[in-house]
Amino acid sequence: MAPQIPDGECPHCQGPVIDLFAEWTDEYATSAGKAAILAGDVVFDCYYCERPIQLVLPLGLVMPQKSVVHVAKRKKSKCEEWLRNQHPGQSLSDIVTAAGWQHAGKIGRRERCIVMAKIRRLPLREPHPMKLTSQETRFLTALIREQNQTGCRGPAHDLLRKHAYPDAPVTGRNSLSFAYEVVPLTTSLVADFDDLGAIDDFVRCAPLITDAEWPGSSGEEFHGRLDEARRQWEARRAISKSATAAL
Ligand SMILES: [Zn+2]
Repeated sequence: MAPQIPDGECPHCQGPVIDLFAEWTDEYATSAGKAAILAGDVVFDCYYCERPIQLVLPLGLVMPQKSVVHVAKRKKSKCEEWLRNQHPGQSLSDIVTAAGWQHAGKIGRRERCIVMAKIRRLPLREPHPMKLTSQETRFLTALIREQNQTGCRGPAHDLLRKHAYPDAPVTGRNSLSFAYEVVPLTTSLVADFDDLGAIDDFVRCAPLITDAEWPGSSGEEFHGRLDEARRQWEARRAISKSATAAL
């Protein structure tokens, strides 16, 4: 979907739902549809347990908040078009294998709960938005656009692989995992967008950056930044959860 959801998981079955593939639905194609999605009138279904899940901003997945909802249907024709454009010659199951989305293989659920419990005990305040350097912003912009337009192929992903994921397999199983692993960092670019249309324009409609440069940090520093981004998303979600509960 555009864009991917940092550490997204189904609130019913906890299956990893990093990509909702919202753009395969008719609803996501119109601004009225996008507004209905954000209003919670249109929801998606989890592709593991098929129960309804609602997309919210800041990017996250929650139980449907309304009792009467319409479930957007992903269309086979749109899926096939996406495969043709972004992953020519590959099947959807090839992509799932490459991205390493295995429900049973999911790790760290217990750790996540512990982290969430720790966050809840902290005073709630807006997390400082992650300060990105201009080189980081440009590199991450190149990455997020490749992720949404060229199936994670292009100069930015080549640089990411070279500097931060030198051991990532080039084809087959888990060959796309590294691209999905950096979603918390790339989506920090759209963390403050409050409308899906603006996000869509930024990641899917804006031109690709073909002369991206590595932002200069070591692979280790890059992974540190990724951890920082992941903590920011956890904090954001804890805040928006408590804000919702307070209503
Ligand atoms: Zn599910």
